[in-house]
Amino acid sequence: EAQKPARRIRALDPDVVNKIAAGEIIVAPVHALKELVENAVDAGSTSLEILVKDGGLKMLQITDNGGGIEKEDLEILCVRHTTSKISTFEDLSSIATYGFRGEALASISHIAHLTVTTKTKDSPLAWRAHYLDGKLVPAKPGQSAEPKGAAGRQGTQITVEDLFFNVPTRRRAFRSYADEFNKIIDMAGRYAIHCKGVGFTCKKAGEASNALSVQVQATVIDRIRQIHGSNVANELIELSVSDDRWGFSANGYVTNANYHIKKTTLLLFINHRSVESTTMKKALEQTYSAFLPKGGHPFIYLSLEIDPARVDVNVHPTKREVHFLNEEEVIQAICQKIESELATVDTSRTFMTQT
Ligand code: ADP
Ligand code: MG
Repeated sequence: EAQKPARRIRALDPDVVNKIAAGEIIVAPVHALKELVENAVDAGSTSLEILVKDGGLKMLQITDNGGGIEKEDLEILCVRHTTSKISTFEDLSSIATYGFRGEALASISHIAHLTVTTKTKDSPLAWRAHYLDGKLVPAKPGQSAEPKGAAGRQGTQITVEDLFFNVPTRRRAFRSYADEFNKIIDMAGRYAIHCKGVGFTCKKAGEASNALSVQVQATVIDRIRQIHGSNVANELIELSVSDDRWGFSANGYVTNANYHIKKTTLLLFINHRSVESTTMKKALEQTYSAFLPKGGHPFIYLSLEIDPARVDVNVHPTKREVHFLNEEEVIQAICQKIESELATVDTSRTFMTQT
C-alpha cells in the first residue's frame, strides 16, 4: 500500500488563531455580556445600562459610569493580553478584580464590530473608537481610524454589533433570539443581585420598559425581590459562614423550608465572579431534600470568598469553572450551616403551630 507523502507543517494564520481563541471564550452573546459587565463593575461603576437587540446577536450595548479609559490606551485596548489589572504571573494568584487576562475585548473584536465611547474624569472630551480584529478601524471606509472626540459623560459605552458575522457556522447555530435574551437577562440578574451599590437596567432595543431594573441603593433582599419576586424574597434566611482552616467565608440568602420550586436556582459567586458548580449544587440539593417536599427545590444566592492563593482560576479561557483547595470541606461547612438554619426555622414553626 502506498504511503502518504509527508505533509508540511505550517503556522496558522494569526487571524485564524484569534478567531479560534475568540470562539472558545465567547460561545454565545451572554458570554460577551458577562465580560462587559465585569469590566464595568471593575471600573467602579454605580450604574450599568444594558441594551439588547436580537438576543444580543445584532447588538449588545453596555453603558457604565465608571472611571473610563485613557485616550492613549485606546490604541491597544483590543490587543490580546493587554490589561490594566495584572502585570506578572504571580499577580494571577492575588487578583481582586474580575478579569485578568486581557482577552475579552480582543476576542470580541475578532468576531464582531466593536465600538467604544469613553471619557475619564479629567478628559474634557469623550473619545470614540471602532475596532476589528484587535485593531482600530475607521467608522466608514476612507476615514481615519484614529479615535474621534465626542460629547459624553464620564464612563464607558461599549457596543458589540453583528456578533459572529464572520463565523457563519456559529451564527447559524442560534435558533431563537428569545433563548439568547433569556440567558442575558439571567446573567444580568445574577450580577444585579450580587453587585450591591450598583444600579442595573436591561432592556430590549425598541421596547419602552426595562426587562430588568434594580436601583443603586437597593438592598440584596430588594434586589432578589425585584428579579425573583416576593414569593422568594419573603422566605429568605441570611447566611454567613467562614472557616480559617479552609480560607473561606460565605455570605448569602437561601430560602427556608416554606419555599420550594421545581428547579433549584443557584446564584453562585466565587470571589465576585459568577460561576457554575455542579458539585456545590448537588450537595445543596441533598441538604434541602430533608426539609422540602419530594421534587421541591430551593433558591440560593451564595457569595463565596476564598483566599486567592487557594483558587485556581486558570483552568479554562472561559473561566466559568473555578477550582479551589479543600472544595469538599468548604461545601460541607456551608451545607452544615444551612442544615442547622433550616432545622431551627423548622422547629420554631412546629412550636408555633402547636401553641
Ligand atoms: P481584562 O478585563 O482581563 O483586563 P479586557 O479585555 O476585558 O481584559 O479589558 C481590557 C482592559 O480594558 C481592562 O484591563 C481595562 O483597563 C479596560 N476596560 C475594559 N472595559 C472597561 C470599562 N467598561 N471601563 C473602563 N476600562 C475598561
Ligand atoms: Mg475583562
